[in-house]
Amino acid sequence: MNQLSDQVNRLQTSATLAMAAKARELKAEGKDIIGLSLGEPDFTTPEFIKKAAIEAIEADYHSYTPVDGYKELKESIQKKFKRDNQLDYNLDQIVVSTGAKQSLYNVANAILNPGDEVILPCPYWVSYSDIVQLTGAKPVEVTTTIDSDFKMSAEELEKAITPKTKMLWYSSPCNPSGSIYSEEELRSLAEVLKKHPQIIVVSDEIYEHINFSGHKFSMAQIDFMKDRTVTVNGVSKAFSMTGWRIGFIGAPSYIAKACTKLQGQVTSGANCIAQRAVIAALDAPVDEIQYMIDRFKERRKLILDLVNQIPGFSSNVPEGAFYVFPNVSSYFGKEIKGRTIKDASDFSMLLLEEANVATVTGKAFGNPDCIRISYAASESDIKKAFKRIKEVLTS
Ligand code: PMP
Ligand code: GLU
Repeated sequence: MNQLSDQVNRLQTSATLAMAAKARELKAEGKDIIGLSLGEPDFTTPEFIKKAAIEAIEADYHSYTPVDGYKELKESIQKKFKRDNQLDYNLDQIVVSTGAKQSLYNVANAILNPGDEVILPCPYWVSYSDIVQLTGAKPVEVTTTIDSDFKMSAEELEKAITPKTKMLWYSSPCNPSGSIYSEEELRSLAEVLKKHPQIIVVSDEIYEHINFSGHKFSMAQIDFMKDRTVTVNGVSKAFSMTGWRIGFIGAPSYIAKACTKLQGQVTSGANCIAQRAVIAALDAPVDEIQYMIDRFKERRKLILDLVNQIPGFSSNVPEGAFYVFPNVSSYFGKEIKGRTIKDASDFSMLLLEEANVATVTGKAFGNPDCIRISYAASESDIKKAFKRIKEVLTS
């Protein structure tokens, strides 16, 4: 008997987490798996952040926190938005949550009704589409290709808008393509949105600091977009704090208030020790984490060289985040190691089972021609993985 709800029956398992679990399982069986599936920095959390957490435990922080986060943390977030993004948010416009994933879930549930449409430039991060569907709203995918560096143009946005469109949701730097919308590109999208005041923008900026482009700009910096944009960020990536689970938003106060109400009925405030540690993380100058960003930059060069050496792979040059998203469709219809490769999912399985390298199928990101390879891994693992991939593909 299946007593599960229709919405859970419809929900797909997160492909990134599923691949990571599968890789872990195979490793436990003794297989020498190289994990390039999960977007998780291989660095440990910086010492000064760990120290702040230890101090918080010793100072007896243990109680429920305010649902929207400690005031001191919200002040640090306020300063961070001002310093890094030239954005002014009042404290009642900031909400701290258990990871940016919860921030995004809150925002979707605070805004969307069944039947609403949400524009997702494709490829998008795995969880967007499923979170939208959980609310009963409908994801509207706008396909982009390598030729436009996987970015949606103003014309494409305009075409996708209907009277039912309630939200535009993207990440920049983008997971999985690494693309970054420039100020000019965001301004041209905003000009389209000006004509449709009912559309809220969700700008996921969790890869903000992992940016090699030399430019950065947020939708909320455009005056007429500020009161209809939710800026999402967190510490998982740049501070190597994935397991600490802290994310946050800057939003119009009515949206922030709704997210707090929702969170208050579901999880309460985020973990108290993690919140104290994040104050130290955000108050520190960005120089403190520069060593990790520098390494990601070196690895990007390495992995792009290696991708270019694989026959039949083609990739854009990611400007940020820590993924490459090569198109592997030249292998579709071919037989390799006794398997017929129909799509990116078969291809990713081939790499897992024959090369012992874990990647994620692009299908989960709305692009069935590509696979996502994370370079948040050591240089030696990246080199070893590509040696194995090449061997399997040229066998
Ligand atoms: N947005 C994007 C684009 C991501 O890649 C991730 C990865 N985890 C998240 C949000 C969620 O991050 P968090 O760990 O803060 O929940
Ligand atoms: N965001 C990371 C990724 O895309 C972590 C996994 C997840 O939260 O789904 O791999």
